[in-house]
Amino acid sequence: MLDFKLASSQQEGKSEQEGDQVYDLIIIGGGPAGLTAAVYAGRAALKALLLGGVTPGGQIANTDHVENYPGFPEGISGAELAMRFQSQAERFVTKLANDFVTEVDFSTSLFTVKTHSETYQGRAVIVATGAYPRRLGVPGEKEYFGRGVSTCATCDGFFYKDRRVVVVGGGDSAIDEGLFLTKFAKEVIVIHRRDELRATKSLQERAFANPKMRFVWDSVVEEILGHDTVTGVRVRNVKTGETSTIETDGVFVYVGLIPGTKLFEGQLELTEAGYIVADAHQRTSVPGVFAAGDVQSPDFRQVVIAAGAGAKAVIEADRYLAETAGSHA
Ligand code: NAP
Repeated sequence: MLDFKLASSQQEGKSEQEGDQVYDLIIIGGGPAGLTAAVYAGRAALKALLLGGVTPGGQIANTDHVENYPGFPEGISGAELAMRFQSQAERFVTKLANDFVTEVDFSTSLFTVKTHSETYQGRAVIVATGAYPRRLGVPGEKEYFGRGVSTCATCDGFFYKDRRVVVVGGGDSAIDEGLFLTKFAKEVIVIHRRDELRATKSLQERAFANPKMRFVWDSVVEEILGHDTVTGVRVRNVKTGETSTIETDGVFVYVGLIPGTKLFEGQLELTEAGYIVADAHQRTSVPGVFAAGDVQSPDFRQVVIAAGAGAKAVIEADRYLAETAGSHA
């Protein structure tokens, strides 16, 4: 656990008067939105706590290469970018804990946020809990998860040297990570439910030009097969109804994301798909609670957009704190 205090007399003064567990701002989530919010909170001289979960950087930490984040003309590895985000946040935020939030109570104006071991209170909260890989939900997926089934090529690709792997999905993640897997695997078979990819054109071009990539169109995985570890997938062609078995040593699932909002059910207004409803100023249905990044926006899911939303959320939170000063009980 990291614990970092800004040497700010203003913040130390507040801390002594009000107790260590009461913050101006509590940021939940340690991805690009949360870590950017931490930087902006420090710059706004807010006494801020970041509860960052266990993977600093969130999804980008598991991304091979990020080519579209400004300031890195040659691109940067996701892990390196995550580390840089984290280091910058550590410089500014009052306290950073790599801890999971287990419960929140947004029903009073002084909000409560609990982890396994601590109870914190905040006058404002930013929720930046991101989104997580969706699973296929087919037989064999759960049984062989970690034994051939993965949602992280960056973490597990190395184990598939000269093996054959399957990637399920047709979006940016599937193609990006499939291309990464060609560094190790002898063959990468992309199984996609339609006959065209959703991934951006530049990724598509690279994938189609890569001799190690093969595509199985109009097909869904119905079962993941194995003995101890994965040995194959049973696939159904959605147009012909035909089923077949493809032998493989690994299955990488990239079929989209689901928002990390379980904690906020009944506390914040959510969309039907489970995303937090927030306006263009990142304000949620509860005044003083803001949302930023993938947890609130299913449409863009870009690091740069999450980071921008994190900054906006702090600017709005700071305004809210100024307007409501003295009224939090
Ligand atoms: P996504 O864009 O939602 O794509 C999910 C893919 O999985 C789609 O091809 C979808 O098929 C397929 N799919 C969904 N449910 C399925 C199911 N039950 N069975 C089989 N296939 C299923 O998700 P993503 O690729 O994870 O990307 C998420 C976001 O992150 C996107 O906005 C993306 O642009 C961004 N991203 C960007 C980069 C980058 O810039 N380098 C890298 C990674 C991700 P359909 O196409 O038929 O819907």
